[in-house]
Amino acid sequence: PVTTELDVKHKGIVVMGGTFNPIHHGHLRTAVDILDRFAFNELRLIPCFQPVHKDALQVKPFERLHMVELACRADPRLKVDRREIERQGPSYTIDTLAELRQEVGQTTPIVLTVGMDSFLSLTTWKRWAELVQFAHILVVSRPGWEPELPSKLEDFYEKRRANDVTELQSAPSGKIWQTSLTPLAISSSMIRKLCAQQQSIAYLLPENVREFILDHQLYQKG
Ligand code: ATP
Ligand code: MG
Repeated sequence: PVTTELDVKHKGIVVMGGTFNPIHHGHLRTAVDILDRFAFNELRLIPCFQPVHKDALQVKPFERLHMVELACRADPRLKVDRREIERQGPSYTIDTLAELRQEVGQTTPIVLTVGMDSFLSLTTWKRWAELVQFAHILVVSRPGWEPELPSKLEDFYEKRRANDVTELQSAPSGKIWQTSLTPLAISSSMIRKLCAQQQSIAYLLPENVREFILDHQLYQKG
């Protein structure tokens, strides 16, 4: 289907931030599910330059970015947004959302997608309570992570809880909606570990990404 500017303005854009070290089918299937089921027409994957809550990474930003680009070739609705890589320094989601809000104007819905594991740590993010001034939050369940919110987050969520995805499409920001998509128990850490143990990573991530990892001998050391 052809995406018009009007559609994008109307239904809004979805953003998925991540370290993508490396990108895998858990990220990608989530992205495609969101596009197919909820009629958003654009989803931007935003690889971070420097994750704020993780130790120094052995894989360079440009390699992670390149793997995201390889993965997104399979679906034209998946866009790669390089702003965090280009901005450098620690990548704060609040800065990214503020920039995006400037670009799309005040009325277009922006939906930040996070897995349940990320959502549970939301209160440790920079200016976390202000995130919903710029965007909605779509929380996707993740195998192994129970939706047991710390009380501060529970209150925050209850005040903004949406009952349906359409609430995210009828306002520019401010709602939080939890849903469950194709459950895939895949993580980047699991892939890195398999590589370090010289085991196969086939079928966990796109084949062109797997080839890039093998060609460049990424994640060989644990
Ligand atoms: P790591 O194991 O290194 O932490 P990861 O697999 O969690 O990596 P990230 O880049 O940290 O991947 O995740 C980016 C975003 O995608 C986060 O919001 C995370 O919750 C979400 N996500 C990652 N894997 C899945 C999955 N299998 N299902 C649903 N959401 C996922
Ligand atoms: Mg993670």
